[in-house]
Amino acid sequence: MMLGLLLARAGLEVEVLEKHRDFLRDFRGDTIHPSTLEVMHELGLLSAFLARSHRKIEHLAGFIGDVRIPLADFTHLPTHCRFIALMPQWDFLNFIAVEAERYRTFHLRMQSEATELIAEQGRVVGVRANTPEGVREVRADLIVAADGRHSKLRDQAGLQLQDLGAPIDVLWLRLSRRQGDPNEVLGRIGAGALLVMLDRGEYWQCAYVIGKGEAENLRGQGIAAFRERLGEIAPLLRDRVAELKDWDDLKLLSVSVNRLLRWARPGLLFIGDAAHAMSPVGGVGINLAIQDAVAASNLLWEPLRRGRLTLRNLEAVQERRMFPTRATQWLQVQIQNNFLSRVLASRSVPRPPLAARLLGSCPYLQRLPARLIGVGLRPEHVTTPQLLAPS
Ligand SMILES: Cc1cc2nc3c(=O)[nH]c(=O)nc-3n(C[C@H](O)[C@H](O)[C@H](O)COP(=O)(O)OP(=O)(O)OC[C@H]3O[C@@H](n4cnc5c(N)ncnc54)[C@H](O)[C@@H]3O)c2cc1C
Repeated sequence: MMLGLLLARAGLEVEVLEKHRDFLRDFRGDTIHPSTLEVMHELGLLSAFLARSHRKIEHLAGFIGDVRIPLADFTHLPTHCRFIALMPQWDFLNFIAVEAERYRTFHLRMQSEATELIAEQGRVVGVRANTPEGVREVRADLIVAADGRHSKLRDQAGLQLQDLGAPIDVLWLRLSRRQGDPNEVLGRIGAGALLVMLDRGEYWQCAYVIGKGEAENLRGQGIAAFRERLGEIAPLLRDRVAELKDWDDLKLLSVSVNRLLRWARPGLLFIGDAAHAMSPVGGVGINLAIQDAVAASNLLWEPLRRGRLTLRNLEAVQERRMFPTRATQWLQVQIQNNFLSRVLASRSVPRPPLAARLLGSCPYLQRLPARLIGVGLRPEHVTTPQLLAPS
């Protein structure tokens, strides 16, 4: 959607196909990072965006047992917004859709599922899509597959996927918020458990991290035992864990960390999770996907406009984005393997690791995780020009 907006703004004809009828799905994270807010600023959309309902996160903190560990301080970032904006992803996508549709060259087609690549003489020239009106062929100079971590188009393109492994899965659930609840994102670590609580106003959106494949085990122990565990790790929630009536109130999200070795074929480019599924560690997947979009438009708008797009142009996008992808995934894998796996295997509340103790004792150090999470490596800036006036 972001790439669509950028290219339409540069006067290029864009069609965005979305298989669902709306963006109302829960599993994609709510974090709009300072780097994405910077992109909004560069597009002149920041104040309109911030006028939408959101919550500001200036600091991140975690609890290990009862000990509060400050983790990140965003208030010193070299960006216009020194905070993460928490906004459900459907509100964010709706905002981008409305802004993009102000350009006559932008066309969003909901309920249009790309099912098949169309290739001619070794080049991808379009996709077939299932739509409410039947099967449609969409032909284009470039097909961008931004169809997420279960990308169908990736399976079809025959590109090789490198799996980096993830020892965790996530149970996603919601519990009501009550008066007097704290007003921040909370990470809680207890004996063999980890819980992240995102404040969504009327309710807490919670991610309960479990070992890979553990879900069946938990199910076997029954929902009452699970409620008990939840109350132990977050005593704040004890008075409302009964809201979880049965397992249907929990969704299992299988975590994977992987990346394509090659992101492009002639006429076809993968970006976002389709090119590199990120771990939820650090909550940076949206940020990377947006940064891919900005890099892709910066590098491709001109060759596209001239009708001279080559495979080399597409490979340049991968070259630009591979370093931040690789380095961020490396960090996530280190945290998964060396910290999360240990927490999940422990039978008692773990001692805060050295890095966490250092962050607690030296506030200056909290700027480093803030930079990594809030801005990321190799931040992108919009250089794609606006060549069309919005309506
Ligand atoms: C449990 C969990 C929590 C997370 N929390 C965070 C977080 O807090 N912060 C963060 O930054 N990231 C988080 N992430 C990662 C984040 O969700 C992704 O990295 C990000 O959404 C990737 O964006 P994307 O546009 O590449 O893919 P997606 O957001 O997956 O979007 C792909 C879109 O393509 C559509 N689509 C799929 N197939 C087709 C098709 N064939 N035809 C047409 N449309 C199709 C889908 O409906 C979807 O709208 C989390 C991930 C998980 C699993």
